[in-house]
Amino acid sequence: MRQQIIKFLLSQEEYQSGEALSAQLGISRAAVWKHIKALREEGAEIDAHTNKGYRLIRLPDLLKPEYIGAYLDDYRVPMRWFEEVGSTNDYGKKWAQEGAEDGSVVVAEHQTMGKGRLNRSWESVPHGSVEMSIVLRPKIPPQQAAGINFAVALGVAAAIEKGYGVSTKIKWPNDITYQNKKICGILTEMSADMDHIEYAVSGAGVNANQETFHGELKEKATSIRIITGKSVNRAQLCAMEIQEILRYYKKYIVSGMSSIIQEYKEKSAVLGKQINVIAGAETYCGFCKGFAEDGTLLVEVDGELRRLLAGEVSIRGMNDYV
Ligand code: ADP
Repeated sequence: MRQQIIKFLLSQEEYQSGEALSAQLGISRAAVWKHIKALREEGAEIDAHTNKGYRLIRLPDLLKPEYIGAYLDDYRVPMRWFEEVGSTNDYGKKWAQEGAEDGSVVVAEHQTMGKGRLNRSWESVPHGSVEMSIVLRPKIPPQQAAGINFAVALGVAAAIEKGYGVSTKIKWPNDITYQNKKICGILTEMSADMDHIEYAVSGAGVNANQETFHGELKEKATSIRIITGKSVNRAQLCAMEIQEILRYYKKYIVSGMSSIIQEYKEKSAVLGKQINVIAGAETYCGFCKGFAEDGTLLVEVDGELRRLLAGEVSIRGMNDYV
């Protein structure tokens, strides 16, 4: 009900009388007032006028399901929210083991142990970014799982572009960058046997409202706020991410890599470029020729074509991070 009230208030620019709200939502005026009071206590700015009724000015800056859900076209997405969690991916895996359905979402205001690939860490500041993981149950062979990474990256990039007009690039396999700086990191983990994926969990951390970065991230990271100069409505961004990720994911599951690869190539930060490949202790230079059907990176090194697996290497530009 809370979500419906928020959604209704969001859709109306004019004041809505208590009567209109109660008729629209099928609850008593006292119940309407209780919800309004609770929303205000959580930080929502709602103007109340004796003769005119209520008008929503601003929602609280929270990623709670009712705020995200208010921006979703289809708000039956199962969601769990945390003020703070170790890693949304770890929670997503636990929830998946307990039976979370395809498309379930874990969100957090802050991850204390956010993870990147290859055991690297992901830094988040409380209420600064959108940290979320989505549980997926794709009916595809595990050999095709890498495509999920591509679909999730395309989904997040589309959400950032649609919502904020920021046109990003994708650094294989799935970092999202803007002018060679990272704006989003994605990590997909899965549980599978030889021929069946039990579940995959894809986590995406999007830098939204950070105004600065420190240490090694100063040169490497950026946020939507830094790029556009405007603050981000995180709940709305998260809702767009969920919708766009699910759109590309479904496309991939139904129609395969060929249905998304063209878009992925157009957004690639590495295709057709000279790149540095970091493979454990070894670093070598190669030319990025493309991507195979199974999501591997095709790199030409000394005239010989190599296929690189996302779980094993990192890519850097010749001079920059990308
Ligand atoms: P890589 O980009 O080196 O291939 P990963 O995909 O594993 O690595 O992402 C982890 C890396 O992302 C960390 O080592 C760190 O350099 C960087 N990172 C961590 N937190 C952030 C952040 N909030 N924004 C941008 N980059 C970050």
